[in-house]
Amino acid sequence: MATSRCCRSVVAATVSAALFSAGLSVLATTPTLAQGTTADEVPVAASRAFVVPVTGVAGRLITDLGPHSSRLRGQMLFEQRRDASGAVALVLRDVNLLGQSVPTSRGPTGPHSLRFGPGAPVPVVVDPATGRLVSSMVLLGHYALIDRLVGTKQISRDQWAPFSESFGGELRARLNMSGLLPDAPATFTGHVRLKLAAPVAGAIRELEFTVPPTPIAWLPPACDARGAAFRVLPIQPVFVRHGPDDVWPTGGSFDTLLEHAQAVWNKACVTLVARRPLWIDDGALKVLDGNDEDVALRDGEQGAADTVEVYVVASAPIFGGPATYGSGAGSAHVIIGDDTLTADPPSLNALAHEIGHVLGLCHPGVGELWCNTGNIVLVEGSPGTVMEPSGADADNPDLQSLDNCLNVASPLLVYRRLYCCLRPDCESDCTAELQ
Ligand SMILES: [Zn+2]
Repeated sequence: MATSRCCRSVVAATVSAALFSAGLSVLATTPTLAQGTTADEVPVAASRAFVVPVTGVAGRLITDLGPHSSRLRGQMLFEQRRDASGAVALVLRDVNLLGQSVPTSRGPTGPHSLRFGPGAPVPVVVDPATGRLVSSMVLLGHYALIDRLVGTKQISRDQWAPFSESFGGELRARLNMSGLLPDAPATFTGHVRLKLAAPVAGAIRELEFTVPPTPIAWLPPACDARGAAFRVLPIQPVFVRHGPDDVWPTGGSFDTLLEHAQAVWNKACVTLVARRPLWIDDGALKVLDGNDEDVALRDGEQGAADTVEVYVVASAPIFGGPATYGSGAGSAHVIIGDDTLTADPPSLNALAHEIGHVLGLCHPGVGELWCNTGNIVLVEGSPGTVMEPSGADADNPDLQSLDNCLNVASPLLVYRRLYCCLRPDCESDCTAELQ
């Protein structure tokens, strides 16, 4: 079974056990490590989470051409957990960031993205007397220049993953202490500084940014052990036609495929929000039967950098079906044919399956080692679920598993302040997964 991001052990830094109930006077205790306590042991139902939005802050990136400014946006997700003894721990659970291109001697980096890396979630050391927070972090970074210089790795027939770089560093922040009482309004101020730790192309050497005083956003409490924060994945459909007068444009399958993908990923508290379609006026790209057409279709990537582009062609025989590039990174995009619905049987869940690749899942059984590229952390999907490859004469299952739900990761995911319960289902191993 794949390792859940939720279940990697961390030693929790704790503040007062009475934090939730007894007001601020009890907070003047030195943060201590709860010996032998791990995040695994803390009931998820007791957790509360808050989001710190990063809204268009000016990041400072250092390349071989010196420092450059890059506007960054994204979110940091913190979670408070309380164990059976009442001890409260604050952990940094997720970081997603998207940034603008910066110049290097080998060309512009292209849009870059960062997401949480191995070891998540990580403990946050809290000084209750001052409200100061300190946390280390490792983020996985990717930018288009890496693809051009190093290439990508084909993991399976329909999945290409980028090589990414890891950046290690530290968050230093301040949160007025009422912010540690659930639902209390609070202001977060912080600074993140990261250095390239494991290079692939090595174009971005350092990255730092300051979060100015920003109100935190508490998420609603989870319903039970299956609760999770509600996440949005923005989708940008891109259709192909000869021109505006084309009576046979592509894209006719998109609404149906999206509806099925929505049903599957809603179980994982991920909702897909599609923007208005964009059009490529080049009829030669309706049928992808050569590498040049594949490259021409994706060249210059349509849409905004904060979306998953879903290119809908008539058919893509070059791939033998749908395909996903940029798995697990901000550059992720899907190519899918309208003929997925005219196949016998129709592949109703084909887009749902590819979205799983977008969110960093591989086919079950592909092997954890082969699933990863460079420093990027992809995870095998669960057997019998939507991540099962369909084969030639079948549709992908519409089933989810708790591991699938908890292992998805993408810099493109956006946390929303909505209540959500995971609804994982699978044919055989759900009971085992929930124990
Ligand atoms: Zn696949």
